[in-house]
Formats: sequence, structure tokens, C-alpha cells
Amino acid sequence: MNQENNSRREFLLTGLLAAGAAVGCSSKKTPFEAGADEHAVASGKMVKLLSVDGEVIEVDQAFLKPVPNLPSVSNDEARVGMKGKKFVMVIDLSRCKNLRKCQEACNHMHHINPGQNWIKVYPMQDAEHTAPYWEPTTCMHCDEPPCVKVCPVDATFKREDGIVLIDSDRCIGCRFCMAACPYSTRVFNWSAPDIPAEVAAKPYSCESSVPQKKGTVGKCDFCPDMTRKGELPHCVSACPNGTFFFGDMNEDSVTNGSETFRFSDLIKDKAGYRLMEDLGTKPSVYYLPPADRNFPFKSGLEDDSTQKSSS
Ligand code: SF4
Repeated sequence: MNQENNSRREFLLTGLLAAGAAVGCSSKKTPFEAGADEHAVASGKMVKLLSVDGEVIEVDQAFLKPVPNLPSVSNDEARVGMKGKKFVMVIDLSRCKNLRKCQEACNHMHHINPGQNWIKVYPMQDAEHTAPYWEPTTCMHCDEPPCVKVCPVDATFKREDGIVLIDSDRCIGCRFCMAACPYSTRVFNWSAPDIPAEVAAKPYSCESSVPQKKGTVGKCDFCPDMTRKGELPHCVSACPNGTFFFGDMNEDSVTNGSETFRFSDLIKDKAGYRLMEDLGTKPSVYYLPPADRNFPFKSGLEDDSTQKSSS
């Protein structure tokens, strides 16, 4: 690309970022970078914008790209994932007091059927004389996912960023994946969720997993629609105790929104582990042992009635 084209590209990008600023968008959102039309012809209709330097500038309307609420990702693109990323979660068991704010946020944001949960919080006790603790579980986004191997229609798939998703448009409801998952993380939609009309009318996205459909399987998706926006999964943001850390293994960094750690140091220093390691599923979810706990086990919710079976 010659220098003139380079300058034009820079100008377009600056103008587009300014457009984002003009409508109150955060510069953190990066959909602007893709799709600027380099071949647009000037319309002569000038619009005033606030530049990234805080100055009012005039830009030809033809060079502006509408600012979307969300990056639009087709379900085919969603099968590929975010390039160069390898998402990972760390759950610190010393911080969980069974408040289930994670579960509440997940259920609400994914419009899951009442009585079903993609995140479950189990009371655990490893042996008779050992201390009990709470263990939240998500989909483990296994690197060797048994669920993907048994799906006869390629409805569930592993992306290059490590996330395992379900395309409900392809799912035929055979439930082989539910039988294959050793972590019992999948649920079956025996009925369509009772969701607001505006949500039901949305085109189905396998990145948001909304709307769930009757006769298909659902599960934790690591919220890739949020990650694309540079935001954290709902469970991570919702936990007031900072139990969940999420990040990119390639960047060796995880955060719960207020604390950020080097992933490898955290796992090494706090003796992180994965569930059912001997099965060879290679989960992307790591646990930190419930040592030096922040709360007594009995604090939090006593009621265990929302821990329903996944079938
Ligand atoms: Fe598949 Fe279960 Fe592993 Fe999730 S936890 S990737 S559903 S096998």
C-alpha cells in the first residue's frame, strides 16, 4: 500500500473513531477497525464530529461507518473464534461463599429456562474429616472435548480461541453430548424459555446463545459476545467476591475485573488444578484450592433448591 493510501486509511479510522466519540461510544470498542470503506466517494455532505484530540472537525458523511451496538458476527464466523486468543478461567475456591450471583447473572443474561443453570455451585467435602467448601462449575471448555467428538451433526464445536460452543440452529436434540460430558454441564431445553418478545425476535447467535430453543442443548459459553467487546463474562463481573478470573492464556493474564494476575504465576503459586485431569479432557477452567478461605463455609445461601439436574 502506498503512502497516500496509508494516510487515507489513517484519516478514515480517525474519522470513524471520532464518530464513535460523537455518539458516546467507548474507544475500547473496536468494530470500527474492520469494514471502513476505502472506496467510498465523497458525498459533499459534511458532518461535524468530535475528534479523538477533543477538536470539532468536519468529515464527509460518505466516509463514516455506522456504529453498531455489537460487532455482528455470523454463526459461521462464530465457529472460528477470536484469532490469537486462548481463553482461560480460574476459579478461586477460597473466595466462594455460595452467593450464586454468578448463576443469577448467567441465567438472566442468557434467558435460561427457570430451574436450569449453566453455572452450578456444589457443596463439596473431599473426605469425612476434611473441610467442606463451595465449588462453582461452568463448562470446562475442554481442549479435548468428548461432547464435540460425539455430536453427529457438528452442532457443537471447538474454536481456535479455545471456546466450545453450540449452534442451536444445527442441534437436533439427540443429547449424545450430554451423555459424553463428564462434568454434567449441559442442559436440555424441554421447552422454549419464556422470554420477552424483543429477545425472542432476535436472530439466534451462537456467541450470545440467545434465544435458546426448545429441543436443543444449552451450556455455559464463556460469553464470547462480551469478550469481543473487551468485557468480561457475566459470571466474572457479577461475583462480588472476585471468585472468577478470566483471561487469555497467550497473554498469560487473568483478571476478575479489579485484580489482574499473571496466569502462570497464579496457578503455580496457589497450586491450581483442573477437574478430572486423569480423563485427558484438558479443561480450560482451573481451580485454586479452598485454602485460607475468606468466609466460613456456612455463610452465603443455605437453600440448595436451584441445583437442578441437567437432564
Ligand atoms: Fe464439552 Fe463437557 Fe468439556 Fe464443556 S465440560 S467442553 S460440555 S465435555
